[in-house]
Amino acid sequence: NLSRRLTNVASFIPKGARFADIGSDHAYLPCYVCLHDEEAEGIAGEVNEGPFQSAQDTVNRYDLSNRVDVRLGDGLDVIENGEIDLVVVAGMGGSLIKTILDEGQARLSRVKRIVVQPNIDEPGLRYWLQWHGYTITDEGMVEENGHIYEIIAADKDSTGQELTERQLLFGPIILNQRPDPFYRKWRREYVKRRRIIDQMTQAAEPDHDKIGTFKRELAWIEEVLHDDN
Ligand code: SAM
Repeated sequence: NLSRRLTNVASFIPKGARFADIGSDHAYLPCYVCLHDEEAEGIAGEVNEGPFQSAQDTVNRYDLSNRVDVRLGDGLDVIENGEIDLVVVAGMGGSLIKTILDEGQARLSRVKRIVVQPNIDEPGLRYWLQWHGYTITDEGMVEENGHIYEIIAADKDSTGQELTERQLLFGPIILNQRPDPFYRKWRREYVKRRRIIDQMTQAAEPDHDKIGTFKRELAWIEEVLHDDN
C-alpha cells in the first residue's frame, strides 16, 4: 500500500505519461503509477547504491522491468533529452529539489510538467518554477503522520506567470481551494513565526529586514486564518 503522500503525488501524473521519478528510493511511486495505468512508462532515478538496489527489487517484485527503468545517477543526468514529458521530485527539501532542477535544466527542454513535493521551502520552489517559465496549474495538500505536505504541479507554457509574494507563500491554487489541512498548517506556522519574530527581536543586533519580512507574512497568515469561521 502506497503512502497517502505518494498516492497524492501520483494523482498529479496524467494518464499515459512518460515520466521520471528522481530520488525514487524504493521506486514505489513509479510502480504504483504503472500498475494503475497500463500506458504509463517510468524511469526511477537514484544517486545512492542502496536505494537503487531497493528500487530494482520493487520493480522486479511487481514484474514491471519492461515499464519502469531503474537508473543510477545524479539528478536528471539519468535522462536523455526528449525521453520524458514529466518529472517528479518528491520527499526532499525544497532547496535540494531546486538544485536538481537547476543542474538538470538542459534535460528539461521537452518536459511539459514538473510535479514536486518539497518537505520544506515551498515558496522558493514556486519562485523557481515561475522564473523558469512554468505555470503552477494544480496543487494539493495531504496530511500524514502529523506532517502536512504540499504538492505542486507546474506546466511549461509561453505565457508565464507572475505570482505575488502572498501567492508564493500559500500557493496560488491552495489559497483558492483551501483544502482540508490548510487552516491546520497555517495555525501552526503562525505560532512558529511569532516565536521566531520574538527571538529575532531580542537578538543583540536584530536583522530588521528579516523581521520585517516575517511580520508581513504573519499579517497575511492572520488574514487567512480570519476566514476560518
Ligand atoms: N521520492 C521518494 C519519496 O518521496 O518517498 C524518496 C524520498 S527520499 C527522502 C530521497 C531520495 O532521494 C533518497 O533515496 C536519496 O538517495 C535520493 N537523492 C538525493 N539526492 C539525489 C540526487 N541528486 N539525485 C538522485 N537521487 C537523489
